[in-house]
Amino acid sequence: MSVRGAIVVTGTELLGGRVSDRNGPWLAARFFELGIDLAHVTIVGDRPDDMLAALEWCSSLGVSLVVTSGGLGPTADDLTASVVGGFAGRAMVLDVALEERIAEILRPMRSRWPHLTEEEIRASNRKQAVVPEGATVLAPVGTAPGLVVPPAEGLVGPTVVVLPGPPRELQALWHAAVETETFARAVAGRTTYEQRMLRLYGLPESQIAQTLRLADERGVDFGRIEVTTCLRRGEIEIVTRFEAGDAAIYEAFVAVVRERHGEELFSEDGSLVDDQVAGMLVEQGFSLAVAESCTGGLLAGRLTERPGSSAYLRGGIVAYSDAVKEELVGVGHDVLVEHGAVSAQTALALAERARERLSADVGVGVTGIAGPGGGSAEKPVGLVFVAASGRDGRRLVRRAQLPGNRAEVRDRTTTLAMHLLRRLLLGESDAAAEGDTAAA
Ligand code: ATP
Repeated sequence: MSVRGAIVVTGTELLGGRVSDRNGPWLAARFFELGIDLAHVTIVGDRPDDMLAALEWCSSLGVSLVVTSGGLGPTADDLTASVVGGFAGRAMVLDVALEERIAEILRPMRSRWPHLTEEEIRASNRKQAVVPEGATVLAPVGTAPGLVVPPAEGLVGPTVVVLPGPPRELQALWHAAVETETFARAVAGRTTYEQRMLRLYGLPESQIAQTLRLADERGVDFGRIEVTTCLRRGEIEIVTRFEAGDAAIYEAFVAVVRERHGEELFSEDGSLVDDQVAGMLVEQGFSLAVAESCTGGLLAGRLTERPGSSAYLRGGIVAYSDAVKEELVGVGHDVLVEHGAVSAQTALALAERARERLSADVGVGVTGIAGPGGGSAEKPVGLVFVAASGRDGRRLVRRAQLPGNRAEVRDRTTTLAMHLLRRLLLGESDAAAEGDTAAA
């Protein structure tokens, strides 16, 4: 049986576009995992009438669950709890134990508000402890508690999960909300699903559409497994959801993907190329150095996103000007003059020299034209070259013509570099020693 739910994100700053909503998409993914059909995501300002209208609209859709985000703070414009209380037909009451709990949380923070009196702090503290009668209270992660509020007896309507706006707090309290009995009752009887993710790199999305058609012809029952594909950072993600009994159908689907895209399918367990590269560098005990031109340090940034990256990354050089490519990295003057800064030869020289200069086992070099200016007929905007070079002589060079604006070209170049690095660590090497290019 399918259970439907909705999300109401509150915050005037979100409506104004100053802050982009991170909670709606995050909650939507959790709904998907739990098998709750998402009917609607609404963003409203911090006005009680608009909030109430949004809740009533969700209720009119017949949803069993509504999750709200934001508006739980201590200030007067944080009104979500009382609006939800009214919506659920529940009186607002002071939860004395919660008031004491919030007071404890606030005690060590007092020095931050020297201008506030004890009484003022207590008043705002008390406001956050006034909750709908009969609601399940979720212990605060920040200062705001979460709430799970079923409709009052005799009323029909959705159960509302009320969560604070800061994403870190919302995420922690969501997990607590899911554990409550009130939540379980609201979504009782829903179908539970398994979810799997495949990741592919180096093929257009249209080919996946063909693969889906082929799988369909071969009898994969897409009525029983739900497949969605999306392009992200230049990679294709295929997410599949199915009921536990249909795992064999999913396996038959994966077999078709493997057969058609064995080269491009790099992750069958949802792991990111970044995780795989980090894992292989650690496993093989290799150190890494990078020299970047058009990505200006983004690759080094991406490589340092994981804690523990100092175990393998020795460092990087942002070699934006030709002078720095020559003087600091050691790219030959003749290479730059003969082939240009944006060339396979320069990318390879960046990789090799960076590896030597920084005494690493593996080097990566990146050069290209991110645009919007600087392109030519011969070297258009989006043309990039990436090279990887191993101490043992292995080397890979790729040329790619990337789509998108400047930010997208730069980001996708880092993805290309991660994949090239992955292939080098898997033992691949270009056959030709001249550093000639192959199409990515
Ligand atoms: P607090 O007790 O921290 O005030 P709150 O529930 O009242 O919690 P809000 O005042 O709505 O939360 O939001 C606090 C901050 O959290 C916002 O200024 C914003 O930076 C961030 N935030 C809130 N909602 C979102 C959202 N949907 N996406 C991203 N950031 C958000």
